Amino acid sequence: MPEGHTIHRLAADHAEWFGGRAVRASSPQGKFSDGAALVDGQVLSSAEAHGKHLFLGFGGVGWIHIHLGLFGKYAVGAGTAPPPTETIRLRLVADGYADLRGPTTCALITDPEKQAIHDRLGPDPLRPVDDGEKAWARVSRSRTTIAALLMDQKVIAGVGNVYRAEVLFRHGVDPYRPGRDVSRREWDAMWADLAVLMREGVRLNRIDTVRDEHTPEAMGRPPRVDDHGGEVYVYRRAHLPCHVCGAEIRTEALAARNLFWCPGCQPA
Ligand SMILES: [Zn+2]
Repeated sequence: MPEGHTIHRLAADHAEWFGGRAVRASSPQGKFSDGAALVDGQVLSSAEAHGKHLFLGFGGVGWIHIHLGLFGKYAVGAGTAPPPTETIRLRLVADGYADLRGPTTCALITDPEKQAIHDRLGPDPLRPVDDGEKAWARVSRSRTTIAALLMDQKVIAGVGNVYRAEVLFRHGVDPYRPGRDVSRREWDAMWADLAVLMREGVRLNRIDTVRDEHTPEAMGRPPRVDDHGGEVYVYRRAHLPCHVCGAEIRTEALAARNLFWCPGCQPA
């Protein structure tokens, strides 16, 4: 599943390609034909992300709410769109095009319905209006592990498996530590770090989390080879030596997702 930086990047891209322009909307697959017909010819007035949710605003018509889920994918491009295929749920066309396939959600919603989605999501490190306070209120009272809390979109929105593993490593926090045993200082540092790392993720469209002294160039090691791209400390590095202390990176399933951590740098 894409992490929040991907959705914020999509929002920025939509604003750039379609913002302020009348767009052609269609649903070659047919499942969003009614919504697309209402939006067709309208001007895209706003594109926003909150966690893994994308909202495309069309003035009085409302918002298209998109959640990619596990299988949703976007294909975007400049110039003329290729001939439509019947897997495209939503196609937007202006100067370029954006084709959405296989999302969990693609629905036309009203302002109050959009607000209800914001209300049930935790703060998002990439939203300028959000801060870590609301998340801290939940984390500091919880017996749940910090690793599970970081993935709970009601606690903090947009963090996925990669940022979760990496931010815990960068702050030396054992993933199994209960939320209420995380200090205020540690939480504030992790929130601030997530904001920086995820902003870099939006800019570069990939996740890089290693500090300057641990890059392949600085360490004289080969770059990581992984379809997720980017240089990381622990994510998908099970049984490899830690870049910092040399201990073997561990992995275990937690809440159906694989957790990765270094027992040397993140002691229990
Ligand atoms: Zn280590």
